[in-house]
Amino acid sequence: MVRAVARVFALLTFTALTSSAQTSPPLAPAAASLASPQATELAKLQGDAVGWLEGLLRINTTNPPGNELAAAKYMAEILQKEGIHADVFEMGVGRGFLVARLSATAVPDPSRALLLMSHLDVVGVDRSKWTVDPFGAVIKDGYLYGRGAIDDKAMGAANLAVFVALKRSGTRLKRDVILLAECDEEDGGTQGMRIIVEKYWDKIASGFAINEGGHAAMKNGKVQYIGVQASEKVSVAVTVIATGPAGHGSMPRKDNPVLHLAAAIDKIGNYEAPVQLNSVTRAYFESIANVEEEETGKWMRALESSDRAEHAARWISNTSPMWNSMLRDSIAPTMLQAGIRRNVVPSEARGVINIRLLPGNPLEALLSKLQQLVNDPQIRFEVQPGGGEAAPSSSLSSDLYAAITRLAKQDFPGTTVVPFMSTGATDSWPLRMRNVQAYGLMPFPLADSDFARMHGDDERIPVESFHKGVQFLGDIVSDFVVSK
Ligand SMILES: [Zn+2]
Repeated sequence: MVRAVARVFALLTFTALTSSAQTSPPLAPAAASLASPQATELAKLQGDAVGWLEGLLRINTTNPPGNELAAAKYMAEILQKEGIHADVFEMGVGRGFLVARLSATAVPDPSRALLLMSHLDVVGVDRSKWTVDPFGAVIKDGYLYGRGAIDDKAMGAANLAVFVALKRSGTRLKRDVILLAECDEEDGGTQGMRIIVEKYWDKIASGFAINEGGHAAMKNGKVQYIGVQASEKVSVAVTVIATGPAGHGSMPRKDNPVLHLAAAIDKIGNYEAPVQLNSVTRAYFESIANVEEEETGKWMRALESSDRAEHAARWISNTSPMWNSMLRDSIAPTMLQAGIRRNVVPSEARGVINIRLLPGNPLEALLSKLQQLVNDPQIRFEVQPGGGEAAPSSSLSSDLYAAITRLAKQDFPGTTVVPFMSTGATDSWPLRMRNVQAYGLMPFPLADSDFARMHGDDERIPVESFHKGVQFLGDIVSDFVVSK
């Protein structure tokens, strides 16, 4: 019942969104005669797309353990009904990913192919904090609720709809379009993208990719800017270890490892690496200065001025932790561990620091700086395995970036396109290591209050925004892949 009601609601919302004339038949945009065949097919698929997102949300893919295989098979079934062959690859018990391809009529050229990707896994939930079943795909007041509603199943359902619409339209493609729904993104990708790129590259070899990681920022019902992720910081975890003699708690000593660790963590956590701008962050601050408040915009423009740069960086860093992190290598102490008894001075104390390097910055340089700062023979650093690598940024002058910019302005008049370096990691970096021009989108317009629910409680997407995002994504993909 809920599902049927949801479908009807979705159809109504979409009709309201796309029909400028009340007399238009349901699901047919007013300008249907001018719409391309794939845009027409996509408009017809909007109701199904919501249903597919609901279906994906009902499959609990909390990682760990993941259970992405069930979601991959769910998508494969949908594709099979459309006459599209999909490969589902198993990656251990209950885990797997899906690849499907629409081939260009010309001779395949992997360097031109477009990869449409999303991840099937989600982060866990604290059920006691949710007002609805996180895996129930509940629709309430125009919102579809569920873990993964934003991150990243909406993208998966949107990719699927765009892909199916292209197939149904029968249009000639000038490049291959590859659909990838992958696994283990939320746990670092060691059981996902790293292996997929390494062992299954021939299945996904491409020159361009659209992934998650961006933002369509909505304010007062209007899309203020479209953030396109073209780069990301590199995440590395380092264990800080203090050692010293164990002893009795009744006879304190200055070489107590707990003391030494605390002092070291204090210095490390308060260290501020120098400000560094790169091509993406420079373009980001230049663009976003135009949509921020006057005072903020003023300091953003002054970031590289000869006399006010230092004050500008201070102002921007103090205004937003994210902006602070975009300006420099950052370090956050995240874990502490010491002691076995309340009256025993332990011989070892450990802390974990999460380092986020600007792309291209070597870890060794920062570590030796920290060593110097701590200046304590009782302290040593151990780099944890599984850290990211310094992938290059994607180009801001590629044809795909140009298409995203053009279509953003067409679909959201008055909006600004803002290139973006995310402080968090996505699965785009293993692709960028292979010179793929990968861009992170979040094509669905979201208010800050909804965007903030990603990984939080009551994650939800406005159904209307989902439809708008599906259309936007479809427009970008059509522009980029369809032969004219
Ligand atoms: Zn995600």
